Amino acid sequence: AEPPASVAVPQAGDPSLVLLRRVGAVDPASLDDYRAQGGYTALRRAFALGPAGVIREVSEAGLVGRGGAAFPTGRKWQATASQPDHPHYLVCNADESEPGTFKDRVVMEGDPYALVEAMTVAGYAVGAHRGYLYLRGEYPRALERMEHAIGQARARGLLGDDILGQGYAFDIEIRRGAGAYICGEETALFNSIEGYRGEPRSKPPFPVEKGLFGKPTAENNVETLVNVLPILTMGAQAYAAIGTSTSTGPKLFCVSGSVDRPGIYELPFGATLGELLELAGVRQGLRAVLLGGAAGGFVRPDELDVPLTFEGTREAGTTLGSGVVMAFDETVPLPRLLLRIAEFFRDESCGQCVPCRVGTVRQEEALHRIVERSGADAAGDIALLREVGRAMRDASICGLGQTAWNAVESAIDRLGAYE
Ligand code: NAD
Ligand code: SF4
Repeated sequence: AEPPASVAVPQAGDPSLVLLRRVGAVDPASLDDYRAQGGYTALRRAFALGPAGVIREVSEAGLVGRGGAAFPTGRKWQATASQPDHPHYLVCNADESEPGTFKDRVVMEGDPYALVEAMTVAGYAVGAHRGYLYLRGEYPRALERMEHAIGQARARGLLGDDILGQGYAFDIEIRRGAGAYICGEETALFNSIEGYRGEPRSKPPFPVEKGLFGKPTAENNVETLVNVLPILTMGAQAYAAIGTSTSTGPKLFCVSGSVDRPGIYELPFGATLGELLELAGVRQGLRAVLLGGAAGGFVRPDELDVPLTFEGTREAGTTLGSGVVMAFDETVPLPRLLLRIAEFFRDESCGQCVPCRVGTVRQEEALHRIVERSGADAAGDIALLREVGRAMRDASICGLGQTAWNAVESAIDRLGAYE
């Protein structure tokens, strides 16, 4: 079947972009074009710095994970690199499945060599000789482009036994997901690669100590990895000057819903939600904006000055997550939207632990009853939702169950969804 149409990149061609600079400008099938547009400068700098120097730059740049959890990348790499157990692995999490998230897809489809180069830099930093790219199964175009890029890099000595003649060996294997949201959770992802059911493991131990095949593993999101390239080419200080002092660098935002120009946008951290929505052409009659995806929370139209930073969105009672910005106007039936979110979590729960397995079913049932009664007599079900939500948050093994009630709670408390 034909892959679905590519995601729009309304800013394509803007020379001030950092992460999206080449998307739409480079031929994604041409290694020569990638090199002509600055490709492989970062890897050369990495070899000049040495692994410890690369980790120092990444730490000084203040890079934190862009998958949604914002864990400091330099700390993760240092913890992996220092483990005495071997081999070390690098895993790129490209199983992006958070509803409303499509940024990694744009990077892989539009600038695939950047991810190959970034994975090589990361592997070098953490002392890995093998990298796995765990790619969302529903991304056929990204798969084709990444396979081609990896093959070309291998043929030209940019992957393999002696990269750029520097004596460093590294190669990348692609593994495809099969449609399970939970396999984007890092330890479920390891199980999936190892051939087991995609069920999360308890943490700790963290993957930096015991990850893929029980070995020290650095697991990073696509967007996190490609940020390492500008950090090395422009230097940590110049990179850290972008954004705010606590959320440094550029960020990709996935804008969808009631806007005229949906797609991927790159802005420095600290731009406001209102500025982003203006770029995307927000429509009249805005009712609410969901930040952070299904596990995130809503902001109201009177809160559009919230800064798009990890701390700013937290203060506003939500999360930046993986950069999801879904705008809903007055025509969107909020109770049905919340029911759809609940169905999603019930469907995607792996069923391993009771609070999530049972809680996501009870949550969906309660929301169903509320929708059927058009919101009348909702108080009893709202009380039940709070009780179930608390149990899921406190007692679930992984982030799926822990956050499955976030958006519903936010809609009740901040939007008065059933009033
Ligand atoms: P987490 O906070 O448990 O961990 C974040 C990362 O830091 C992990 O790699 C973890 O191993 C590492 N880490 C945490 N503490 C550590 C320590 N003490 N030592 C070493 N490493 C440590 O979060 P998570 O469950 O991995 O991810 C949750 C996030 O995933 C949410 O914010 C959500 O927005 C996001 N998410 C994204 C998508 C997507 O498609 N991009 C899908 C679902 C969820
Ligand atoms: Fe599985 Fe849900 Fe438990 Fe996570 S919280 S391990 S998805 S049942």
